[in-house]
Amino acid sequence: MKIVSNDGQEFDIDSDIAKQSTMLKMFFDDECLNSIIECSDGPIPLPNVKGSLQKPISLKSLNKCGYDACTLGDATKLNVHLVPHSHDDVGFVKTLDEYYYGSRSDLQHAGVQYILDSVVLALDENPDRRFIYVEIAFFYRWWLQQTDEIRNKVKDFVNSGRLEFISGGWCMNDEGTTHYNSIIDQHSLGLEFLNDQFGECGRPKIGWQIDPFGHSREQASLLAQMGFDGLFFGRADYQDLQKRNTTKSMEMIWKASANLDRQSWLFTGILPRRYSTPATFSFDFIAPDDPIIDNINLPDYNVPERVQTFIQTAQNESMEYATNHIIMTFGGDFQYQNALANYKNLDKLIKYVNDQQINGSNVNVFYSTPSCYLYALNKVNRSWITKTDDFFPHAHHPHGFWTGYFTSRPALKRFERYSNNILQVIRQLNTFSNSQLRNQIFSLSEAMAIAQHHDAVSGTEKQHVANDYAQRLSIGIDAALNVINTAYSKLLIKDNQSTTTEIQQFLCQLTNISECLPIENAKQFTVILWNPIIHPVVGYLRVPVTRSYTVRDSSGQIRSELVPVSNSTKTIPGRMSNATNQLIFKYNLPALGFNTYYFEANEEEEEKFEITKNEICILQNQNFRIEIDEQGNLKRIINLQKNINITFLNQGFYWYQSYSGNNSQFDFQASGAYIFRPLTQDAKPISTKRSLKCIKSELVQTAIIIFNEWISQEINLYDEGEDIEIEWTVGPIPIEDNLGKEIILRYDTDIKSQSKYYTDANGREVLQRIRNYRPTYNYTITEPVSGNYYPVNSRIWINETNRQFTILTDRSEGGASLIDGSIELMIHRRLLYDDNLGVGEALNESAFGQGLVVRGKHFLNIDLPQTSALYHRIHSQELFMSPLVTYALINSSYMNYSNLYRQTWSALSDILPSNIHLLTLDRLNEKQYLIRLEHYFELNEDEKYSYPTKINLQSIFKSIGIIEKILELTLDANLELSQMNRLHWLTDNDELLLQTNDSTKQHSLVDTNIILNPMQIRTFRITIV
Ligand SMILES: [Zn+2]
Repeated sequence: MKIVSNDGQEFDIDSDIAKQSTMLKMFFDDECLNSIIECSDGPIPLPNVKGSLQKPISLKSLNKCGYDACTLGDATKLNVHLVPHSHDDVGFVKTLDEYYYGSRSDLQHAGVQYILDSVVLALDENPDRRFIYVEIAFFYRWWLQQTDEIRNKVKDFVNSGRLEFISGGWCMNDEGTTHYNSIIDQHSLGLEFLNDQFGECGRPKIGWQIDPFGHSREQASLLAQMGFDGLFFGRADYQDLQKRNTTKSMEMIWKASANLDRQSWLFTGILPRRYSTPATFSFDFIAPDDPIIDNINLPDYNVPERVQTFIQTAQNESMEYATNHIIMTFGGDFQYQNALANYKNLDKLIKYVNDQQINGSNVNVFYSTPSCYLYALNKVNRSWITKTDDFFPHAHHPHGFWTGYFTSRPALKRFERYSNNILQVIRQLNTFSNSQLRNQIFSLSEAMAIAQHHDAVSGTEKQHVANDYAQRLSIGIDAALNVINTAYSKLLIKDNQSTTTEIQQFLCQLTNISECLPIENAKQFTVILWNPIIHPVVGYLRVPVTRSYTVRDSSGQIRSELVPVSNSTKTIPGRMSNATNQLIFKYNLPALGFNTYYFEANEEEEEKFEITKNEICILQNQNFRIEIDEQGNLKRIINLQKNINITFLNQGFYWYQSYSGNNSQFDFQASGAYIFRPLTQDAKPISTKRSLKCIKSELVQTAIIIFNEWISQEINLYDEGEDIEIEWTVGPIPIEDNLGKEIILRYDTDIKSQSKYYTDANGREVLQRIRNYRPTYNYTITEPVSGNYYPVNSRIWINETNRQFTILTDRSEGGASLIDGSIELMIHRRLLYDDNLGVGEALNESAFGQGLVVRGKHFLNIDLPQTSALYHRIHSQELFMSPLVTYALINSSYMNYSNLYRQTWSALSDILPSNIHLLTLDRLNEKQYLIRLEHYFELNEDEKYSYPTKINLQSIFKSIGIIEKILELTLDANLELSQMNRLHWLTDNDELLLQTNDSTKQHSLVDTNIILNPMQIRTFRITIV
């Protein structure tokens, strides 16, 4: 058959091979790949795609890769595993594409294409040489441009263990601000490519998180569930390292889940020198030391000195590590662009150091990889210490706490979450509409994977790079719209209608500032909400309108109300809408399906709300009573159902003045994109006076509290609402006083929280935090505020015996409890100094010629501690996977529309258990689907839901077909679970890391019922008859 890429190249290809290539499936429909004639106009350029169509080499018996290819050294010597590597940021001071091609060398001399080109040449010169490669976002770009000859050569390197893929995600993801859904997805995307192109020898075994700034327990747990054998990283807190260095405890078994037992345990090692080359031994042209000069006749001959220094370095390092194996990384950021220079000197260094063994030296050095180093440790007969907490927050010196990035670039952080919401929905729509548009989904899928990089969603990149990430997501969303329209063109058609006019759905992405220009003044339009959750959801939608409308769903007219758009919204820079009201209505959506709401304009506007100004404001529904005094101070929230009463001593916006140092010494450390360092430890109130407006209608009661012209909050209580919504609007943060500002929203309650607070890890399990305390080392307090900040990816709470105060966030934010009863969340930052950690720019975001305005939400709940999980588990999932709202302009009347189009639909007919979440549903090809289901309650969290739960997979596939085959996979969907065979390790308590959990071995299923244990995720490839 013929394949034509959209840059016009044509390739003839064996049709069987084309059908097997998951890479081609990303770009072309199965329909065309099965046509055996022609696939044309591939949506992204595929220059020279021919070589990628060779069958993957997966016959491991013919190859010697992985642990089989390892050199394990000499048991009587100090074995130095020399690991050549390059750390290639998927965007940082340059964009991904600038890094790939090497453009903008004024910013950084870095071109990844040259690294891969030159490493291939160097590996070819000497079969002893090894290299590892990590970031598939780059490797993928490079691979597409290679000839068959180079690809075959690279496959030989991979199959002989000389080139090893490590981690294998699309990027090296951040751990402080990412969500587990996207961590799993970005790994799966990279691993799918590697599996497709390299088969089993391309499968990584080791996590390589050498640069992220603080390490999450959930990351380790996820890697363990992907079948990885270990994890290495580079950065740990300086006080933690001091203890580990002296106690030889740099390597450990991380028990990375409080729920999953051995499935989550992962051997973890902290590298010496982060990930850099030992001092004086850099042979890379980026920062070269002297080469090895081995002509004995020259005055510069330096072999004896070089060898002695190296031997001393190795011996020093071995003092800090537990075995007679040590790892030495040789590389750094974008190194090996001229790999021959590196390897030429490393070859010599290895030779001359080992030559000293005849003179009694015990140092034995050889080219190795992280997995071979790990395997050597595994073969040493010993036990390892364990760890159960995480590596947050990270500090590299007494005033360098990397807790600012938990909040940096809050708008990008929200956009990333929103984009993921769309990505998951379009995978579902593609599935349920029986479409085959995985190729079009690839654009958003890749943009999301790139956004997980540790200088992307973290907010620690230059401004033009942040813009590039946002643009990629935006382009991905544009492509998603095609999927949405294709899907609804099928799903909206009633069974008895053969021809119906297609309705163009569109997104209104600015409804958070009450703007949706296409519907302004429209007589009729529809709003369709797709619920991606496998349970019915109810909620409220606000549609910005310029007139009044009657709203109807399939059962007829429903209650709706006009509420005014606030002045603080109307004055947001860049807002172009004329809408002065929002039409608010309650939606009621079927599980995993949609509802349509038909809007028809009324002749007269009807405004039914009451407004008071600067008077005591009581908001009350069936569940809560909120008391606000006439000065706009939130005083009390009462849970009426459970008679729980929380008094607020203060609530509102405060700011820390950012430290403005020149970074020349620790004391002068500035607050920057990474670092949060306040000048003083007291946050100052944003204003002393507030104004209050209280607006009440039947569906929602609102208190708008204006703190000053650039900061405000809206407290919303909806009819029957189960929580309290706080919508905050911040900016432009003024900097005319030349002071950087870190803005927090603080809630000071009367809860006696006894120094304890609780924060989630990547949106999943929750860890207890204790103020001014670290569980595994003696902690000296140097930054009382910043040192108590932790990542809040989805929730934070404090409690006492009978009261719990929980806050859900709509994006990642930094959070802390600095005094008992208090929770603070940092929501925006505007800084004037760089923190000297590489960005080289102050974090000073602007838009429309002024400081960036950011808006977001917190959701508050007050409950008993023992029933709070029910609230925060379910509501955080509903917040994370919100309904996808699409709009369409309609010509036909409601009657005609109802006759022609299906207004409501659900993929499910069974009621599925409330503690199970559909994490992934992805149509792979005509017959196969990838599905991940998760139990999202922890053990002992809820008296009803914290137990193993059964679910029938067939229920979810009801509308698709009969399940013929179920294959359970590892979490990364890259390996049959039955084939997963992790290394065994022994802890110092004589526990063996040997997976015995029955449910994970339940891989060949006799029926479609599966059981999920608390916090378990199970991944399946489903084949439909
Ligand atoms: Zn990096």
